[in-house]
Amino acid sequence: MADDGQVYDVLVIGGGITGAFVARDCALRGLRTALVERDDFGSGTTGTCMGMLHGGLQYLLSNPELTRVECAESGIMQKAAPHLVFAIPFIFVIDSEDKVDKFEAFMAYYDQFQEAKFGRPHVTLTHDEALRLEPALRPGFAAAITNDEPGVNVFRLNLLAALDAAEHGADVWNHTEVTELLVEEAGEGPRRTAAPEETGSPEGRASPRRRVTGARVRDVLTGETREIRARVTVNACGPWVPRVTAMAGLDYRLRPTKGVHIILDRRVTSVGVAANAIDGRGICLLPHENTCLIGTTDDDFFGDEDDVRATRDEVEYLLRSMETVLPDVGRARVIRVMAGVRPTLYQYGIYEDKVTRDFEVWDHLERDGLDGLITIAGGKMTIARIMAEKTTDAVARRLGPDRAERPCRTADLPLPGGDGCPGPAELERLARRFRVPLAAVGRLATRHGSRTEAVLEEGCRDPGGRRVVCTCEPVLEAEIRYVIRHEFARTLSDIRRRTRLGMGPCQGFGCSEQAAAVLGLERGLDPAVVLADLESFRQERWKGQVCWLAGEQLRQQEVTQGAWLHPEGPEGRAHR
Ligand SMILES: Cc1cc2nc3c(=O)[nH]c(=O)nc-3n(C[C@H](O)[C@H](O)[C@H](O)COP(=O)(O)OP(=O)(O)OC[C@H]3O[C@@H](n4cnc5c(N)ncnc54)[C@H](O)[C@@H]3O)c2cc1C
Repeated sequence: MADDGQVYDVLVIGGGITGAFVARDCALRGLRTALVERDDFGSGTTGTCMGMLHGGLQYLLSNPELTRVECAESGIMQKAAPHLVFAIPFIFVIDSEDKVDKFEAFMAYYDQFQEAKFGRPHVTLTHDEALRLEPALRPGFAAAITNDEPGVNVFRLNLLAALDAAEHGADVWNHTEVTELLVEEAGEGPRRTAAPEETGSPEGRASPRRRVTGARVRDVLTGETREIRARVTVNACGPWVPRVTAMAGLDYRLRPTKGVHIILDRRVTSVGVAANAIDGRGICLLPHENTCLIGTTDDDFFGDEDDVRATRDEVEYLLRSMETVLPDVGRARVIRVMAGVRPTLYQYGIYEDKVTRDFEVWDHLERDGLDGLITIAGGKMTIARIMAEKTTDAVARRLGPDRAERPCRTADLPLPGGDGCPGPAELERLARRFRVPLAAVGRLATRHGSRTEAVLEEGCRDPGGRRVVCTCEPVLEAEIRYVIRHEFARTLSDIRRRTRLGMGPCQGFGCSEQAAAVLGLERGLDPAVVLADLESFRQERWKGQVCWLAGEQLRQQEVTQGAWLHPEGPEGRAHR
C-alpha cells in the first residue's frame, strides 16, 4: 500500500533504464506511481552496456525505421541530460580501395539521420589524413570514414530517470525485490501467485477472470516484506521479464543474448575506432571517461541471468580483433570485463546478432485475459524513453481517461541537473569558493550538471567534505555524502554507480574503505554491516577481473585481494 493507505495507479517492477523511464513518464502524467528495483538502478543489463546513445547504424539496411527512431531518441536523451553526454567521433578504417565507394554510399544514407542526434555528416579521409588524426592506427589501409556518435554516463542516466520520477511524486525503492505477484480472482480478495498448473488452461495461460493487483516485495538489505497494491503493474525486468510473467502463470520467452565488453586502464586513442572481428562482426573501441571500452560480443545465452560471466576467450576475441586496426592496444591493462544479457525479443532461425533490437508492449488482458499486468520487452538503452511512452500509453488505456488524461511530456523536459552545466569560468569559481581541486569539480559537473553547486554547498559543510576520496576519478567526499542523502545510495556499489568511485585503474582498492566509513556514518550502520558491504563491493570488483588475469598478474592480484579481505587488512591495522 502507499503510505497513506491508497492503492497506487501503477507499480513498475524493475529499475533498469526501461522501468525508470516508465516510472518517470507515469509520474509526469500525474499517476500515483511506485517503482521497485531488487538491486540498484542500473545494476542489471543497463549497467553492462557500452553507453552509446547511437543511431543504430547496424540496422540501417534491415530496419531503417528503427534507425530513424534511435537517432530521434538519441537527440531527445542528449537534450534531457547534456551534462552526461560526450561526443565520440569514430573512424572506420577501410582496408581496400574497392570498398570505399560502397561504404561512402552507405554512410551518405546514414547522414540523413545524423541531424536528429546532433551528429555531423561523414567525411572520407585519405590514409595519411586518418593517421594524422589517430596515429595509433595500423598503417597500410586504403581510406577511412568518420562517423559521429554520442556516449552517455549510463548509470546516471538511469538514476536520473528514477530520481525525476521521485521528484514528481513517485515512491521509489531500490534493493526491493518482487517475490510474488498478487493475483485476484473475480469476486475475491487478493491471493498469492498462482503456479502455472493452477491457471486452469492447458498452456498455463490465465483465465479471463483473473487480475494482478500488485506485488509482495522484500527489502533485500533488511529482509522486511510488505505488499504494494496497484491498479496496473508493469513488468520492466529486462532479461528477467519471463520470470515475472511466470509469477502470474504466463509462459513467455525472450531470446536473450550475452554481450561482453572490456575496459582498459587508459585512453589509448583520442577517437572511437571500429573494426571487424575474426567472424566479420563489427566491434568498436571508444574512449570513455578516463578509460577505453572495447565491445561487444553477441552470443545466445541459455544460462542463469543472475550469474553472467565473461570468459577469457571472449576477452581475447575482442582484443585480437581490435589489434587488426590498433596494433598496440594490448599494451593497455584490462581493468574490468563487463558481461550482460540483452533482453532481446524471441525470434527463431536467425543468427543472434541479427535478432531485432525492436521492442513490444504486451497488455496481458488482450493477450492472455489477465487484467492489470503490462510487460515491456526488448529494445535498447537509447530508446528507453519512447519504450516508456508506449508503455505508459498502455497503462493509461487500462486506467481509463478519468485517471490518466495528461499527455506524455518526457520528450521535452530535462532530467535533474540537465537544465544547465557550469562552463569553464563557473567551474573555476566553484573550485575557488569551495577550495577543492578544479579537476574534481570538472568531473562532478559531468555528473550533476546544474546541481553541481548544490552538491558542493551541502557536502562541504561537513568536516572532510573537501577531501578527494577516490583519486582515480577523482571523487570528493562531498559528493558521496550527497548521493547517500539525495540519490538513494544505500551500499558502496550504489555509490560507485552514482559517482564512478572505484571504476578507475585501482578498481576501488584505494578508496573503498574511506567511502565505506562515510556510508556507515551517514546511514548510522552497524560496523559489521559496513564490513560486509565492503567485502561484497570488493568481491564484485574482483569478479570483473578474475576471468582475464593469468600467470604472475593473477598471483599478485590474488595476494592483494586476500590481504584486503583479511579482517586485519593488508597492514594488520586492527592491531594498531
Ligand atoms: C554488452 C552490452 C552492450 C550494450 N550497449 C548498448 C549501447 O551502447 N547502447 C544501447 O542503446 N544499448 C546497449 N545495450 C542494450 C541495453 O543495455 C539494454 O537493452 C537495456 O539496458 C535494457 O534495459 P532494461 O531496463 O530493459 O533491463 P535491465 O537494465 O536489466 O533492468 C531490469 C531490472 O529489473 C530488475 N529486476 C529483475 N527482477 C526483479 C524483481 N523480481 N523485482 C524487482 N526488480 C527486478 C533487475 O535487477 C534489473 O535492474 C547493450 C547491452 C549489452 C549486454
